[in-house]
Amino acid sequence: MDIDLARTWVHAIATAVDKQKDLLTRLDSAIGDADHGVNMHRGFTAAATAVSALESGAAGAVLFETGSALLSNVGGASGPFFGRAFRAIGQVLDVPTATPQEMADALAAGLAAVAELGAAAPGDKTVIDAWAPALDAFRHRADTGTDLAAAALAAADAAEEGMRATVPLQARKGRASYLGTRSIGHQDPGATSAALIFRALADTATAR
Ligand code: ADP
Ligand code: MG
Repeated sequence: MDIDLARTWVHAIATAVDKQKDLLTRLDSAIGDADHGVNMHRGFTAAATAVSALESGAAGAVLFETGSALLSNVGGASGPFFGRAFRAIGQVLDVPTATPQEMADALAAGLAAVAELGAAAPGDKTVIDAWAPALDAFRHRADTGTDLAAAALAAADAAEEGMRATVPLQARKGRASYLGTRSIGHQDPGATSAALIFRALADTATAR
């Protein structure tokens, strides 16, 4: 992971969020307040613009800047959660080129930031239910010496599996938790966005 790949990753997330905006909003209209697509779109459009200007430096500079753009442009819960996550990822990647293992450490710091802010556990039907299995899959591949693309592909598959596994869960955190058992049977919007972020990483790393 270097600054060019980081920038391409952020642009790929922005493109994916643009395409999936209506889906994200539809998911949030079932168990939330129907703003998740708009929130993610506003945040990643701002991030994509902000990072276009960054041409050299550590890989993490782009990702830290992405987190800052999310924090300052998104009103909903997803702004602070993904904003803090990307800032944490950026802080760890304070090297010109990060190895897959350093990337695993960065993704772990991102997850820790989400957990610290929201105090959600796996199974609470949040971002964590996609991110945690993605991190495990990524770490496992990185530890066995695979390249970034292979680790990111495994992570994206695991994130999507975790995303789908939120459907039967009852939400215990965030707005959806107010619905109690009525949150059951719907896919979590934030976990869907997390899966999209990992798929964008896999696509970006594979295309390189
Ligand atoms: P809001 O809930 O303020 O409208 P969004 O609709 O943008 O914000 O984001 C909703 C998503 O935020 C949920 O689908 C869930 O994945 C995530 N979320 C909510 N609370 C938490 C939490 N405590 N920890 C992690 N993620 C959370
Ligand atoms: Mg919402």
